[in-house]
This record gives sequence, C-alpha cells and structure tokens, in this order.
Amino acid sequence: MSLPAFRVLQPRTVDEACRMLAEHGAEAMVIAGGTDVIPNLQMKLFAPHVLVDIKLLRELSQIEFSPRGGLRIGATASLTHVLETPWLAEEFPVLSSAVATIAGPLQRNMGTIGGNLCLETRCRWYNQSYFWRQSLGGCLKKEGDVCHVAPGGKFCWAAWSGDSAPAFLALEAEIEIASVSGARRVPLRDFYKNDGKDRISLTRNELLTSVHVPARMAGRRGVYHKLRVRDSIDYPLAGVAVAMEVDASGICRDARVALSAVNPAPLLVRGAGEMLVGQKWSRELAERVAHAAIQTGKPLTTSASTPIYRRDIVRVFTRRALEEVWKNGQASS
Ligand SMILES: Cc1cc2nc3c(=O)[nH]c(=O)nc-3n(C[C@H](O)[C@H](O)[C@H](O)COP(=O)(O)OP(=O)(O)OC[C@H]3O[C@@H](n4cnc5c(N)ncnc54)[C@H](O)[C@@H]3O)c2cc1C
Repeated sequence: MSLPAFRVLQPRTVDEACRMLAEHGAEAMVIAGGTDVIPNLQMKLFAPHVLVDIKLLRELSQIEFSPRGGLRIGATASLTHVLETPWLAEEFPVLSSAVATIAGPLQRNMGTIGGNLCLETRCRWYNQSYFWRQSLGGCLKKEGDVCHVAPGGKFCWAAWSGDSAPAFLALEAEIEIASVSGARRVPLRDFYKNDGKDRISLTRNELLTSVHVPARMAGRRGVYHKLRVRDSIDYPLAGVAVAMEVDASGICRDARVALSAVNPAPLLVRGAGEMLVGQKWSRELAERVAHAAIQTGKPLTTSASTPIYRRDIVRVFTRRALEEVWKNGQASS
C-alpha cells in the first residue's frame, strides 16, 4: 500500500509549529512518531497535503515532576522514555502499567504520549485498505453513509483504542493545547467527545503540547488490565485502569476507574469513586463497582472479539484490578 504525496514541514519551535498549522489549516496534519498516522495514510484513510512533523521539538520531550507543579510529560516524549523513567513506575504505577502494554518495543520507541492521547478511533469496518472499504461502499466514518456496526443509526461507534488515556483519566490529568491564539489547559475528561467520527476537542490548527497530573496523585496505587488478540503487540479490545489511595487501615480514601476500547471515548466509570471512598475491601463491593463498569462500557461489533465477551471481560478486569491494588498494593501489567 503506497503513501499519498505530501510535503513534510519540520518546525523548530512550538510557535513555528502553530504558525504552520494555522497557515495550512485543513490541508495539514500533525505527525509525531507516525506509528498510527503512517499506516492510516497507507490505507488512504486521509490524505493531507502537508505533514507537520513535531518529533524534533525538544522542548516537548521532557518528563518532569515537582511538588508544586506535579507531573508534566511533554507531548513528544516517547513511550519508551516513559517506561525508562524509574520514578514514574513508583509514583504513578497505573500509567507505567498502561504504557507497558502499548504495541511492541519498536512502536514504543517511535510512538509518543501526545500521539497516544490523540489517536484515531478504530473499527473493523474503517481500518481496512481502500480496496476492502470500496467493496462495501464505505462506512459512516469514511466514504459512505451506513454504519455497519449499528445500521440505521447516524452515529459512528468506532472505538477509542488507546491505552494511556484511561490511566491519565484515573489520575485526573489535564492537557495543554497550543495554537497561534495562545495556550489553553483542559481536563482530559473534557477532551474526548465520545463520537467515533469526531473524537477529540482539537481543531486542525491546534497542538497538544503536554499532559499534567496533579502532585497529590503521586504514590497512588494503580494498575491497568488489557484484553488484546496478540499479547505481544496489539491495540486494546477492552482496558480497565484503576488508581486508588488506601490508608494504613485499608480504607479507600480516593479512587477512579476508567475504561478504554469499549466506547468511542476513554471514559471514567460513573459512580465508582463514590462507591469506593470510605470503604474497606470486600468482594461484594468490587462486584458492585464491576457492575457499574459494564453500565459505562458499551462494546459493539467494532472488533474481532464479540461485544458480550468484551463486556464480561470489563467486569472481570475491574474486579481483579480493584482486588490487586487494594489487597496487594502493587501494580502489574
Ligand atoms: C502494530 C501496532 C500496534 C499498536 N498497538 C497499540 C496499542 O496496543 N495501544 C495503543 O494505544 N496504541 C497502539 N498503536 C498505536 C501507536 O503506536 C501508539 O498509540 C502511539 O503512541 C501513537 O503515537 P505516535 O507519536 O506514533 O502518533 P502519530 O501516529 O504520530 O499520531 C497519531 C494521531 O495523533 C495526532 N497527533 C500526534 N501528536 C499530536 C500532538 N502533539 N498534537 C495534536 N495531534 C497530535 C496525529 O495527527 C494523529 O492523528 C499501535 C500501532 C501499531 C502500528
């Protein structure tokens, strides 16, 4: 599958990148590691005339923590950089646990945190070659007007299929966005639109520059559990992230549970925090939160695995993740 023709621009600063994006508007697209963009270009899912390559923006590649400012990860920090920052695994285990499951080592070397948070949504009817798509007349997201997941509907159900977003949601992260008009900071939960066709609140002339986690989240117990076809390298079919503060007597003081790959957006499980705070571990409570998780997660036929199985896995993963962080106090992937 050949690539379409495009020009590559390599800005030296964030300001220059923003000017380039403003100048080329809808013709331009950001490329960071390119591990999602390039395969999508090959499949002719989009055809920008200009790629603004931000990978060389050193000012965005830092990972830092301060007691006042909390954690700041620049958008072009690679996934490998995140994994090789040892204090991150100790202080924010849910994040390391999630990033460790992303793709394989090659993609983690190239892929960035910004790219992971801005990933395209995925669907078995969309992520196909041009030839394959044409045989069906396209789908609602591309070249057609029928959703093959929910025929008759006018909504795109392509699934959010990134792994770091649920971990960041569980850590109450915010992101910083830059454009020629200046910078703005938004809670990550408001960034995702839960619409497979129009996934994020980012215009074509904006750049995600960094992600921030409040300092008070440091030391939270956490873990991410993920379902995928190939364990060595694959997008999620379902993902559950849990971040929790537990006091010395085993009482939960704060908690968030977030899901990936079962909706068009990564979502916090509604009501999970309220159910958990002030409580001690019990299997019945974990089951109740797991039940809330399957009220939030609505998997459809967007992938090779059946919705019923993915829904059940969300329930099982939620219960297991809660048990793991609460009883053992340890994170694992
Ligand atoms: C075989 C394979 C397996 C994979 N498995 C997984 C997986 O298990 N889990 C997972 O989460 N991902 C997976 N991926 C996708 C990808 O490798 C990662 O999500 C990676 O983090 C994407 O980052 P990137 O820098 O390469 O993004 P890019 O491909 O450069 O960009 C992705 C999207 O984000 C936009 N973008 C990038 N940076 C910015 C920015 N700073 N501001 C605004 N927009 C931006 C781009 O325009 C594009 O729309 C897989 C990819 C492959 C090829």
